Amino acid sequence: MKYTLENPVVSKIGTEKYKCVVNWRHGKFIADEPDFKGGHDKGPDPYTLLLSSIGTCTLATLRMYIDRKEWNIPEITVSVNMYIDEVEGKKVTVIDRDLQFSTEITAEQRERLVYIAKVCPISKTLEGDIKVRTFAYGKDEDVKKHLYPDDDITVVWKPELCQHAARCATQLPQVFNPKARPWVNMDGATAQEIREQVAKCPTGALSIAGK
Ligand code: SF4
Repeated sequence: MKYTLENPVVSKIGTEKYKCVVNWRHGKFIADEPDFKGGHDKGPDPYTLLLSSIGTCTLATLRMYIDRKEWNIPEITVSVNMYIDEVEGKKVTVIDRDLQFSTEITAEQRERLVYIAKVCPISKTLEGDIKVRTFAYGKDEDVKKHLYPDDDITVVWKPELCQHAARCATQLPQVFNPKARPWVNMDGATAQEIREQVAKCPTGALSIAGK
């Protein structure tokens, strides 16, 4: 298993309704809820963020394709909106995406551009199987959650160094299983085997504390 982003997207909220600070690779931005939902509209709301994700991914994917084809289309605009429908008693979310090109396009180009938009990575993610897993930690557990002790040794995992190359999970899966919680099972092998596997971590994300 390898996460898509090198670092997770970390967002925080305090007591101010409903200002969230979202950290991304090179800075922060504010997300909020609109006034009618009790927020102060200081930034995009969660649905806007969701739709801008598919909008911007569509644009970047189309730009790559158009440039590779050397078509003269200097500007593309995408409008995205969504509604929730009920089909046979089941809620279905429908996202509509309109593409507007700044030049005329042929029927053949239209067909290709629609196809390329439909296979942009975020479209494929949203139309594929999605699971959201949630874990909760209290104060100070954040530090403790990366320590895996047994009677002899404690394995320390530094997620910020882990490149999720999965060497540990492939070579000693009975101990390192990213799909399990906790993901390190200290009963899965002897202390010596764990020690040897930890030494093979290419990034230093795994280390041993204690004896
Ligand atoms: S071997 Fe190290 S870098 Fe690779 S997945 Fe395991 S902890 Fe992460």
